[in-house]
Formats: sequence, structure tokens, C-alpha cells
Amino acid sequence: MKKYLSYLFTISILLLTAVTPVSAVDGGCDCGFSPIVYVGPLGCARIVRDAGTDNEQQLWPIDSDFLMENLKSELPALKKGILTFNSDLIGHTLARFVNDCMSDLTLDEDGRSKANVTTPSINSPHGAKHGPDDNYYFNYDFRLDPYEHAERLHGFIDKVKQLTGHDSVKLMCSSMGGVVMSAYLDEYGYEGIDAIVCRCSPLKGTAVAGEGYCGKVELNGKAVTRYAEDGIPYLEKDPKNDDIREALLYALLDTLKATGVIDGICALGEGLIKRAGHIVFNEALIPIFRTFPGIWSFVPEEYFEEAVEFMGLKESGTLYDKVMKYRTAMANIETNLKAAQSNGTRIALIVGYNVQRTPLVTLWKSTSDGTVDTKYASLGATCGDVKKKLSRDYLKNLENKEYLSPDKMIDASTCAFPDYTWFIKDWLHCNGNSGIDSLVKHTMADEEPVNIHTYKEYPQFMEADENADTIYPATGGYSEFHRLISHPSFLNFTRFFYSIFKRIFFFI
Ligand SMILES: [Zn+2]
Repeated sequence: MKKYLSYLFTISILLLTAVTPVSAVDGGCDCGFSPIVYVGPLGCARIVRDAGTDNEQQLWPIDSDFLMENLKSELPALKKGILTFNSDLIGHTLARFVNDCMSDLTLDEDGRSKANVTTPSINSPHGAKHGPDDNYYFNYDFRLDPYEHAERLHGFIDKVKQLTGHDSVKLMCSSMGGVVMSAYLDEYGYEGIDAIVCRCSPLKGTAVAGEGYCGKVELNGKAVTRYAEDGIPYLEKDPKNDDIREALLYALLDTLKATGVIDGICALGEGLIKRAGHIVFNEALIPIFRTFPGIWSFVPEEYFEEAVEFMGLKESGTLYDKVMKYRTAMANIETNLKAAQSNGTRIALIVGYNVQRTPLVTLWKSTSDGTVDTKYASLGATCGDVKKKLSRDYLKNLENKEYLSPDKMIDASTCAFPDYTWFIKDWLHCNGNSGIDSLVKHTMADEEPVNIHTYKEYPQFMEADENADTIYPATGGYSEFHRLISHPSFLNFTRFFYSIFKRIFFFI
């Protein structure tokens, strides 16, 4: 009897789970909140070699043990190269190291992965749970053509609609998720999309990819120091020692910079990097990265032609067609988003600024969230150099100051969506911040489309406080003194102290 009852119970549960989504489709859902589809960032799906076998190896994100294992075997040669300033030896060793770690990721001339290199963690939607705190996570293999992801996303959205009984969804995109969304809009249009929210998405590319794909490398002391310093507040949190440790690191970096040590190392390193870099590019980076349509989608328009030449991309064949197809999505993104907005789709772009970008490229002065340039993520903001105001001439001639940031670093009036673009100062690329999460929720949760005027606590320009895990309206004061007064901490005191110290002794 007990056994019979348990069978009955199991069958009932199976029937219930099978029937629920169907009934949702039939009756529709009247909760008033269409489900969120979260299009993840680069690296949202693990890429694995020989999945499910004894030789299984995670290739992306690169497994640190695998990295160290490969590095260990190259260390003696690398050490010898550095000690003897032998850039050829350094170059060949690094190229071998990059190839050991990454060459299996290379796609073929049709832009397809090797058969034994797969993404076993690719998601499909399941369950009917939806609401402001839930989302259906869409992940993908970052190397591939964004239009392939768009095709999968199309099916994914259909499935979400079926499961939830809604006839529309909201798209929340993080970083590269905006690239997939751009391809989706271009191919499938905006029907059934209630909202598009992008967080630090390279909608018009990023200079790191543009310059990297053109081989423009520069090691700049100031950029290296600032890059490290801007990352300090984002170090792993240890509530007890964090503040003091961060302050000491800051002091050390600034002292090394002010006394010329970092510039000296960079000058020494730059010669080596240029020569060794040439070898690494030719023997490893170009053969691998040339084949990734996904990364090509980060190359801004102004770099594209030169990048095709530098990377030696053959201008015919399937791979080239895939790379070229995304140029249309990128070129059309403003028009496509505007068409969607006219049709009632809510648009919100949330971008970071004032973080020192990756110091290896010549365009190190471009203000960014550390990875994506503010001008590209915001679809056209006019920006001062990182940590600097817009030029005096620009400010003098600017008639409409409504969209000018209080610190005079950003003019949002030139954006494609000046009323729907938020700027977060000092926000490191895609870093978790509950204040930003809350802003995102507001942009998706309300009946009426939210813009920069809707909430007093979410104006167009805000500042991120990583330590307090929040954002607050920008005040315009931009000095280390202002930072110390508004957020007293040992780190901020050190920043203030060094700003005075440098001004007095080094006239910086
Ligand atoms: Zn519902």
C-alpha cells in the first residue's frame, strides 16, 4: 500500500510539474511583471577541452592551476630572458606559454570550435518563477559569432514566454551581453521586448580591443600606477585590515611613482615589451584572436580597417563574413534602440567613468570603467581625459549644460539617449554594487519608463562607493579632500595626504 501511495505521489508530482507551464501558457500570467532574461558577460559559460573524460581541462576562464602548471615549465627560460635582457627569448617563451594555455580555443576558418572544445554549462530556461528578483540566465561561448547567440537567444526567449505565460520579456545585459543584444535587435527586432538595460556594455566597442587588434601597445608609468591605485578599493574585503592595507599599498605605489621608480621600470619594460610583444603577437595572439568573431565585435569602427590588416584577416570566406556581419549590428545600434523605444521598449544604459583603463594601450587617457570606454558604452558622451575635466574651450562653448556632470568631466547631451543614460563615477567594470542593482531594478520595475529625472536618488551622475557597496548622487567636488570629507577612511586620508605631498614636492 505504502509503495502504491508513493507511486501515486510521484505520478501526481510529475503531472503537476508537466501541467503547470502549459496552464500558464493557456491562461497567461497576470502578475504584471514580464520575466527578465539576463544576457551574461564574457566568460559567462565555461569553455572546456575533452569534457566528461579523464583529460577534461577548463580553458576559459583560464583555470589557475593549469596556468601555473604551464608557467612553471617556462619560468627558467623567462627568468634567463629577463636577466639577460634577451627580448627574443622572452618573446618566444611567452608565445609558447600563451599557446599552451590558449591555442585549443582557436576557431577554424568557418568560425567553429574544435570538436573536443565545448561549453557544457550552456543554460536553457526552466521553471516558471519570475519577478523583479528572478531572472533567466542566458550564457554563451564568447568566441563565437554574436548572431549565433542571437539565434539561440531567440529560442530562449520563446521558451521563457511559454514557461511564464507572458508574451514579452525584459533584457538585462552585462558587458558583452550588450553585444549579443545588439545582434539580436538587428536580426529579430524589438517585438516582445519590454525593456533593454545595459550595464557597462561595449555597444560601440572598446579601445583595448581596437588598439590590441592593431598591435598598438604602450606601457605608461602614470597609467600603470593609476590602474593599480584605482583597483585598490576593489581588493578582496577583509573588514579588519582592509582599510590600512589599502592605504599602505596606495602609499607605496605613489611613492614609487613620485620617485620615478615606476617610470624607470616602464621605460625599461617598454623596449622589451615592444620587441617581445612583436613575437608574442605573431606567434600566439594573432593566430588565436584573429579567429574569434566575438572579440572582433569589440573593435570600434575607427580601428576596424587597420585591425583587419594587422591581424591578417582574409577578406573572404565564412570567418570574414561572420566578422563583417556584426559591423552592421554595431553601426545600427542607435537606430535599432531608438526604433525599439518608439515602440514602447524601455531603454536604460548604465556606464562607469573616471577609472584608469588597462595601461597597455596607447589610448590610456580615455576615461572608462577600466575596460570599456565611457564614450562607447554611453553611445556618444563627450568626455574629458580620465581624471580630467572637459577642455576649457569645450565648456565655454557648451550652451546646454543640463547634461553636464557636476565635476565637468562628462557631457551627456551628445549621447544617443541623454535622458536614459546614467554615469557612475569610479565604478570598476561590472563590479557588483547593491546601489547599482537597485537602480537596475528601478529601471525595470516601474509602470512608466524611468529616466534620469524620475528619482531624486538616481540622477544622471552618481558616484560609486565600493567600500559602502552603494552609489550616491555626484556632488561635483572633485578633490581628494572632498573624498576624505564625504567618506572618511584611512585609504582616503592617504590619498589626500599624497595629493598635497606631490603638489608641494613634485609639482604634479
Ligand atoms: Zn507573471
